[in-house]
Amino acid sequence: MNIHEYQAKDIFRRYGIPVPPGDVATTPDEAERIARAYGTGVVVKAQVYAGGRGKAGGVKLARTPADARAAALQIIGMQIKGLTVPKVLVTPAADIASEAYAGIIVDRGSKRAVFMVSPAGGIDIEEVAATMPEKIMRLPVDPRYGLLPFEATRLGFFLYKNPKLARDAAKIMRQMWQAFVGSGGSLAEINPLAVTTGGDLLALDAKMVIDDNELDRRPDIAALRDETAENPSELAARRANLTFIKLDGNVGCVVNGAGLAMATMDLVKYYGGEPANFLDIGGSSNPEKVVNALKIITRDPNVKAILFNIFGGITRTDDVANGIVAATRDAPLDVPMVIRLTGTNEEIAVQILQQHGFSAMTDMDDAVQKAVRLATGGKAA
Ligand code: GDP
Ligand code: MN
Repeated sequence: MNIHEYQAKDIFRRYGIPVPPGDVATTPDEAERIARAYGTGVVVKAQVYAGGRGKAGGVKLARTPADARAAALQIIGMQIKGLTVPKVLVTPAADIASEAYAGIIVDRGSKRAVFMVSPAGGIDIEEVAATMPEKIMRLPVDPRYGLLPFEATRLGFFLYKNPKLARDAAKIMRQMWQAFVGSGGSLAEINPLAVTTGGDLLALDAKMVIDDNELDRRPDIAALRDETAENPSELAARRANLTFIKLDGNVGCVVNGAGLAMATMDLVKYYGGEPANFLDIGGSSNPEKVVNALKIITRDPNVKAILFNIFGGITRTDDVANGIVAATRDAPLDVPMVIRLTGTNEEIAVQILQQHGFSAMTDMDDAVQKAVRLATGGKAA
């Protein structure tokens, strides 16, 4: 689960990390009022689940309350990476002497949470990794012991030569680790970790991603979910108990089971197509799930063909067929659909589909090739 910068900052603050104050505004008037109360120049920052807000025009310096109002007017409602900005954070502007990066990611290779720090902050860490990899230090953390004091010190001295700054940074690394573990994080990031002109460290940006599997035992963290900031399709899918991830291609995929969904996407790519999504309707089927899945997929204007790939085990293929019939009865599709199903109640499913003018295939390769061909207007495969 994503959380906003202001929420991540609240968490960091609770663990003692130096974070500037800030208040959230959903209207320009509110932004102006908050800026006036601070009585200083402020930064108005888009609260949206996307990085690179600065480059996209979602972070603006405002010298006066009127400027803050104008900045909020521009930022609230703007689109960043396909997401609408629902609110802004208004925070006193700091005078920056230098910017560093500090992050914790989960690394599958080492099966550990890994600290990544770099004195080259303020820009994407991917960019630093590509152009000056020697400026990144990685430190896998042993989950049995957590971040040990000497490790924190090494991180601090990699960031700063000045011993005071290095020690302050080491303390922040330990607090960051506590915040990460204590909140069930799968990612934590401070970029930039700034040195102010006064010589103090300050976390000017904060990002956290929470492991969904941690939410049940952390109701306080689960309550941070902001549905107004979520991708509408992903929100609809979560409400319908479907696992859905939007992708950039044009073949809409409806599959049961995560493994089969992955294999289906692989095969779409193998035959020269691009999947528009990952969608797992889950093991136990009911027609309602299929109706919801089709609604979500057809909302994406990029989708040029729909591919059903159903392996009937616990999932009954006749349930899926009934779902397809129900979903298309009220809202006929305006893109072609390829249905492949095999397994439990396959004969009944084929009968149901045929009665309603659909045809079904049983071979996965054939079905995927056909869907890719239809999506690309006959050009591929
Ligand atoms: P991101 O682009 O989404 O990562 O948003 P950030 O919060 O990191 O802001 C982008 C950039 O805006 C930072 O790298 C800073 O250079 C600048 N910035 C953010 N907060 C402040 C601030 O308080 N004062 C100043 N002068 N610049 C800031
Ligand atoms: Mn940032």
